[in-house]
Amino acid sequence: MSTGTEDEAILIIGAGLAGVSAAESVRKAGFAGRVVLAGDEPDAPYDRPPLSKSVLCSAEALSNLELRDPAFYAENGIELKLASTAELIERDSRRVHFADRTSVPYKKLVLTTGSSLRILPILPPGMPNVFYLRRLSDALALREALPQTCRMMIVGAGVIGLEVAATARTLGIAVTVLEAAATPMARAMCPTMCDFILGKHADHGVHIRTNTTVVNVDRFGAGYRVTLSDGDSVDTDVIVVGIGVVPNIGLAAAAGLTVSANGIHVNEFGQTSDENVYAAGEVAFHYNHRAGQMDRQENWLHAAAHGEHVGRTLVAGGPGYNEISGYWSDQFDFSIQSFGMPKGDRDVVRGSVTNGSFTIFHLVGDVVKGVSSINAARDMRTGKALVRDSARIPESVLSDPSIDLGKWRQSAMTSPAV
Ligand SMILES: Cc1cc2nc3c(=O)[nH]c(=O)nc-3n(C[C@H](O)[C@H](O)[C@H](O)COP(=O)(O)OP(=O)(O)OC[C@H]3O[C@@H](n4cnc5c(N)ncnc54)[C@H](O)[C@@H]3O)c2cc1C
Repeated sequence: MSTGTEDEAILIIGAGLAGVSAAESVRKAGFAGRVVLAGDEPDAPYDRPPLSKSVLCSAEALSNLELRDPAFYAENGIELKLASTAELIERDSRRVHFADRTSVPYKKLVLTTGSSLRILPILPPGMPNVFYLRRLSDALALREALPQTCRMMIVGAGVIGLEVAATARTLGIAVTVLEAAATPMARAMCPTMCDFILGKHADHGVHIRTNTTVVNVDRFGAGYRVTLSDGDSVDTDVIVVGIGVVPNIGLAAAAGLTVSANGIHVNEFGQTSDENVYAAGEVAFHYNHRAGQMDRQENWLHAAAHGEHVGRTLVAGGPGYNEISGYWSDQFDFSIQSFGMPKGDRDVVRGSVTNGSFTIFHLVGDVVKGVSSINAARDMRTGKALVRDSARIPESVLSDPSIDLGKWRQSAMTSPAV
């Protein structure tokens, strides 16, 4: 695309992290036309990770959550259209219609509509003392309930469920977590990491019950008596449901773009089945060159990087998307980081699991394909470089904390084996 005339517009639907990153990068790439960033939430674009962490246990100033300073949008000529739900894409006339009866024309359209919460039918949103967590308003509602809460049940032992569990426990609340699977997070983490996290939760008094689901819910006092599939029942004041998300594909699907349960299908440049419509971030089922396959990611690093990439390449061109993604999570006094594949054919531990500071390298064959760590920021930095380089390093070196991996790697750089 050319850098645009003033009457040409790039319209971005979805004012989350991917949308903001895309808006910023089209400007940085030199686009001179109109840039409109429209989102259905009323708040200026904000960061989601603190919603399951600091926001729940502190009176964190909401301005701290903003993704960009308020002046950023005006300074970069980005029109923010908040509290505006896009309802219809007219691809022939290249115009998007909003629920507030306005419409915006576009030269190029970028869909960064993210995900919505997966709903548990027996516990729909809106039931008293039942909470879901995706938006700022969700987090504020849960925060308001916490001072009156003695017992909390969390349905789903995923990362967000466990973050809420850790926060609630820290506030002195008795917490039970239900998990339908035999092992929580078994797909997202290697067994050593899983065991460590679950062990820490148990040490802090979080009661995690696996292989069980909710079969019935009765009002009991101000809270609920929850009957489980294993026949037991648990009484609780509040229930938090964290059973994952689904990509927001409805707008794209209604416009006839290629979509599936995996998201909006896009190529390596974020382009959908319509050359004038792109998608980025959590909603995009995208081609990643490095992985050599289609992929959808639900993490901060990817939403930022993919939004940036799609915005930049749609204006200025360039190579296809090939970023490696990863995530972090903070629970109790430990900080989890993961980059690249979260488990390998072999997982090599470096450091002390017992002392709560260690790194795990995930190998496929003899190549470092991923790295995860607990409270080990320095090794994590080196580990990321090894993953980026698809390094081959002997297991004996990776597992020996007395060897400085950065120095070892530098001195071995000339070796063709590395
Ligand atoms: C509570 C919580 C904690 C998290 N913690 C971590 C963490 O610790 N580490 C990590 O790596 N990741 C974390 N994540 C994940 C990370 O925040 C997300 O992957 C990232 O925010 C996705 O960004 P996105 O822009 O693709 O989508 P979203 O953030 O979902 O933004 C999409 C926006 O589009 C809007 N929208 C949808 N449809 C329409 C429409 N038709 N019209 C207008 N607007 C529309 C949505 O309302 C939303 O505002 C967390 C997420 C949550 C919810």
